[in-house]
Amino acid sequence: MAGVTFRNVSKVFGQNVRAVNQLDLDIRDGEFMVLVGPSGCGKTTALRMIAGLEEATDGDLLIGDRRVNDVPPKDRDIAMVFQNYALYPHMTVYENISFGLRLRELGGFFWQITNPGEAKKIKTSIDQRVQDAAKMLGIQHLLQRRPKELSGGQRQRVALGRAIVRKPKVFLMDEPLSNLDAKLRIQTRGELIRLHRDLGITTIYVTHDQIEAMTMGQRIAIMSDGVLQQCDHPEKVYNEPANLFVATFIGAPPMNIMDAEIVGSGDTAWVKASEGMKFPLPAGHPAAQMTGKKVHLGIRPEAIFDVGMNNPIATTESNTFEANVDVIEPLGPEYTMYLKAGGYDLLATIDHGSKLKPLENAKFCVNLEALHIFDAETKLAIR
Ligand code: ATP
Repeated sequence: MAGVTFRNVSKVFGQNVRAVNQLDLDIRDGEFMVLVGPSGCGKTTALRMIAGLEEATDGDLLIGDRRVNDVPPKDRDIAMVFQNYALYPHMTVYENISFGLRLRELGGFFWQITNPGEAKKIKTSIDQRVQDAAKMLGIQHLLQRRPKELSGGQRQRVALGRAIVRKPKVFLMDEPLSNLDAKLRIQTRGELIRLHRDLGITTIYVTHDQIEAMTMGQRIAIMSDGVLQQCDHPEKVYNEPANLFVATFIGAPPMNIMDAEIVGSGDTAWVKASEGMKFPLPAGHPAAQMTGKKVHLGIRPEAIFDVGMNNPIATTESNTFEANVDVIEPLGPEYTMYLKAGGYDLLATIDHGSKLKPLENAKFCVNLEALHIFDAETKLAIR
């Protein structure tokens, strides 16, 4: 096993498409790291550089301690699983899983004739590895089938099996679940987490789906326009987004964002988005010293509460606001409420015990400890 390090790595396509821009990222040995970001942000290019399928324009790329910029893909000891499983249609599952091993470890036909004892030993070891991988993935009963006789989820498992038997130093996965239906995606998500726990192999997983990133990654690296925005544990990224991009990209429903200004100062500083939407800053908040500064105020939907309910935070005059309930979406244990408040459209995640009805005017309160403030110019978090 090995970690992977990007040191100031850039990839420029043609004259001016800077797909990855000065990426510094340390993926630890044995870690499950997710690269996430919107389409075109450079995550696949970063992954393909690790695989050796793209050459870095600048910087150093290391697998373990070894600089691999000039090492051909086959000598990097990595295995890649793609969105499109690319199984050989004429081979059985067994043959698909063992193909790479047979090629690599058995190689030429003639030496097998001249050294049948050794060839038999290798074949037995390959068979054992295929059987072990099949057992781990629950596909032992499918080994004699061909890909066209499998479901999408089963095919994806075969592709994983093919990667596992190679016992690589690093697994690279590029949106491996996106061809699966929603239920199978959730199930396979869990299987991949378990697999990683059992094998302990460094895994770098690319997705544009922030929920997949949050649920699977031990750490997640969020990219935008080729630039790494933040890399940290999911809870940290969620609770302390480094900038406005991360704040709005991570979280569903997304964070409410309002244009606002810091008014007052010191112990009586407020963040004011409108007359109806202004809140005192928690004691010691650095924005309290920035009177007059233009900011964005961010409030996560679950930081808003219906004051008519028993809430984990106390209602005070300064943490409440009035809103008109526009639409209510029932989601089982909670409602997503669309509110019109102080000139803004807001989303609130409210417990299903709420008695509020659409078009009703009501009071809501906000957890002031969970306010997010971003510099309107730099878009960086102020905390
Ligand atoms: P997606 O989720 O859509 O796959 P991504 O985040 O993985 O997107 P990349 O595929 O890495 O993004 O692409 C990053 C940028 O580089 C995009 O602007 C893309 O158009 C460009 N790009 C990627 N491959 C090439 C190429 N071979 N030639 C020119 N430009 C490319």
